[in-house]
Amino acid sequence: MGKIIAIANQKGGVGKTTTAINLSAAIATANKRVLVVDFDQQGNATSGFGLSLDSDKTIYEVIMGHIDIGEAIVKSVAANCDIVPANINLAGAAVELVNMKDREFFLKNALHSIKSDYDYIFIDCPPSLGMLTINGLAACDTVLIPLQTEFFALLGISQLVDTINLIKQSINPNISIEGVILTMLDKRTHLTDDVIKNTIRHFGNKVYKTMIPRNIKVAESPSFGVPVLLHDKNCIGSKAYIELAKELIDGEK
Ligand code: ATP
Ligand code: MG
Repeated sequence: MGKIIAIANQKGGVGKTTTAINLSAAIATANKRVLVVDFDQQGNATSGFGLSLDSDKTIYEVIMGHIDIGEAIVKSVAANCDIVPANINLAGAAVELVNMKDREFFLKNALHSIKSDYDYIFIDCPPSLGMLTINGLAACDTVLIPLQTEFFALLGISQLVDTINLIKQSINPNISIEGVILTMLDKRTHLTDDVIKNTIRHFGNKVYKTMIPRNIKVAESPSFGVPVLLHDKNCIGSKAYIELAKELIDGEK
């Protein structure tokens, strides 16, 4: 049975999508079957894998029951790695869901039939704690939290942790934190050392030993529509995501 991991942080631009794309591709190279669910109306994961944003077979049509999830899955965007795309249509779902019964469970229900086809399913959540992220948290087994290694990294994080705890008490009792990944690490300075220490103080051994360095190859690979591993497999960004993949897979054992 596949493990569903929501990548969430309501703060914008912390590396959620970059991690969704590159960690998925890295895990897939370890012969695991991986699905990325783009669950953000920005569609950044969709374009990052080189797909256009004008499809009418996206996660929006799936959760609204217009199409079956099998029709929306785009196969082999990287070896062993499929994606359900998203685009601006998803903005409508956030509004439409508000008045619907069982509105928290639309994504969970949509993923049910394909869960066993994959080893890992990553949900790339949007930068908010609104109804879409709540659907992501209701659908997942665990939450992966990317933090940008900067002074404000932990600001607002208690709101995310409180939300996860609320979800645990109500709609998803088995949810837990998969891990915390520090991203966009600049060369070690006093400041980055402080951020790392504070993050470890807050999250203890949930913080991955692997940290993702700021790396131009990582930043430019979406413009080529490929994960960084397919752009430059030897750059420090690729190596870091491979290491992170190993750490995550080993964590299962
Ligand atoms: P949003 O909240 O808008 O969905 P996000 O949390 O998904 O954002 P990303 O889109 O992954 O964040 O990253 C934000 C920006 O930082 C992007 O331009 C991305 O290319 C860049 N970036 C992310 N990780 C790295 C890295 N390791 N090195 C260099 N640039 C990076
Ligand atoms: Mg994103």
